[in-house]
Amino acid sequence: MEKKSECEIVQDLLLGYVDETLNKESKKLVEKHLIECESCRQRLEEIKEDMKLNQENQKKEIDYLKKIRRRLRIKSVLIAFAIIILVIIGIYVGKFVTISNIMSKADKSAKSQNFYSESQQIIDNGKVFVYKVYYKDGKYKQTSEIYSDGGVEVLSTEYGEVGTDKRINISDKEKLVTIYSGNFTTIKNKEENIKWVRFTEDERHSLISNLGKAVIMSIGDGRYSDGKHCYILRNKFEQEQKWELWIDKETGLPIKEINRDGQISYIAGTDIVKEVKDFVQDYKYEFDIVTDDDVKVPDYSTYKVEYKTEE
Ligand SMILES: [Zn+2]
Repeated sequence: MEKKSECEIVQDLLLGYVDETLNKESKKLVEKHLIECESCRQRLEEIKEDMKLNQENQKKEIDYLKKIRRRLRIKSVLIAFAIIILVIIGIYVGKFVTISNIMSKADKSAKSQNFYSESQQIIDNGKVFVYKVYYKDGKYKQTSEIYSDGGVEVLSTEYGEVGTDKRINISDKEKLVTIYSGNFTTIKNKEENIKWVRFTEDERHSLISNLGKAVIMSIGDGRYSDGKHCYILRNKFEQEQKWELWIDKETGLPIKEINRDGQISYIAGTDIVKEVKDFVQDYKYEFDIVTDDDVKVPDYSTYKVEYKTEE
C-alpha cells in the first residue's frame, strides 16, 4: 500500500486548520509543512477564499429571508387594514341600502291615490289627539279630533282639492264654515302637503340625506304592538337614546316616534300648548280604504259662511 504523501495528509487537515479544530500536534504538522510547500499554501488560500464566499452567500441568503419576512409583515398589516375598511364600508353600505330601501318604499306608499293616514298622541289624562287625512284622487278631508272617555270631539274638518286655491273648513260645534283662498291654500293643496308623511318628498329623494342617516343612525329590528315588523332607527351618537323612530318594513312609513327628551307640543286646532315628557306619536297608514263619500263636502247650507284670503 502506497503511503499517503505528506501533501495529501496536510490537505486533508486544512479544513480543520482553518476551522481551528485541529489538535496541537496536527496543527504544528500543518504549519511546518506550509512553510515548505507552495502548493499546499495555495490550497489553503483556495479553501479560505471558498469559505469567505460561502459566508457571503449565507449572509445574502439571510438578508433575503429578512426582506421577505418584512414584506410579508407589511403585506399582512395592509390586508388587516383593508379588511377593517371593508367591514366599515360594509356596515355603511348595508345601512345605506336599508335606508334607501325604506325611502323608496315610503315614496311609493306616499304616491298612492287612495291614502289614509292617522297620527295620534296622548295629550292629557286619557285624552288622545288624532289627526286624520283621507285622500282620494286629488280630493281630501282632514280632521282634528280629541278622543276621551266622553266620546269624540271633532275640532275641525277641512276639505279641498289638489290644484285649486280653495279649501273649506267646517266647524260643527260653531255651525260655521270658513272658505279659504289665496297662495297659502294653493301651497297647502299640493299633493305632497296634503298627505302628511313623516318623511318629506325631498328627504325621500335625497341621496345625501340617506347617506347621512346611514352614518348617524343605528338600525334595529322590532315588532309593533299589532305584530308588524319594523326597523327601529336611533341616533347612535346620542348616548341616552332619547329618540326612536319605528318604521313599518312593508310600507317604509313611520308608525311610532318617541322623544324621551320632553317636547313642547302644540295641539292643532286647540289652544293646548304643553310640555310633554316621553312624547310618543303613533302613526297609521292605510291604502285603498278611502271612499268618495269620505272626501265629499257635506251640505253646510244651514251654517254661517265666511270667506278668508291668505296670501
Ligand atoms: Zn504540500
